[in-house]
Amino acid sequence: MHDDGACERRKKMVERQLIARGIADQRVLEAFLKVPRHLFVPEEYEDLAYQDSPLPIGSGQTISQPYIVALMLELLELSPEDRVLEIGTGSGYQTALLAEIVREVYSIERIPKLFFEAKERLHRLGYTNVYLFLGDGSKGLPEFAPYDKIIVSACAKHIYEAWVEELREGGIMVLPLEDAHGQSLVRAWKRKGKLRLEYHGGCIFVPLVEEDAHGEQENL
Ligand code: SAM
Repeated sequence: MHDDGACERRKKMVERQLIARGIADQRVLEAFLKVPRHLFVPEEYEDLAYQDSPLPIGSGQTISQPYIVALMLELLELSPEDRVLEIGTGSGYQTALLAEIVREVYSIERIPKLFFEAKERLHRLGYTNVYLFLGDGSKGLPEFAPYDKIIVSACAKHIYEAWVEELREGGIMVLPLEDAHGQSLVRAWKRKGKLRLEYHGGCIFVPLVEEDAHGEQENL
């Protein structure tokens, strides 16, 4: 796909899928205008890259619908000084959006194939403020904590203690959380060591998979 065409399609995506549904954070909108989503999907889906839907990225995983990613980023109230922990790198698309807005992004993926592909892609696109790790994100990433913000891209059964510990006081976490009705999008603030939760409607994410054994995390 020629990039001029892609640029036009990004503009339409931002206007029709994000602004029209109430996304107003200028930093988020500008990041969506900039990051070439078509380079984060398998070649056979390039033509569909700017549609209003998730797409398969291999290994049984998906790149999420643009709107839900934008909503999650808006809920995080991102600022240029932030250091962010992302659980579930996937294709690396959301990682790139974050990297356009914040100082540093630390991202963990458990599937080696996706991890290596995202690493190569983000390197090729010139991102230098992104640090990728292979491992189980439910264990967090204590080496670089505390984080100003945490975003989880797979649906968790509960909020793991490691995430609460690694979020700075006053920080914000956004995640899909399993509940009695299915999944809810949740924003949590850390105040005096505890989380205050706010619910933002239903959502559909692939499940967060917890490793049985605590494998070594590999930073490449
Ligand atoms: N935001 C990503 C993107 O832009 O492509 C899509 C993320 S996809 C919906 C969820 C990802 O979380 C998958 O790549 C999956 O392998 C990963 N995942 C699931 N459980 C995980 C875990 N315990 N630790 C790290 N990654 C995990």
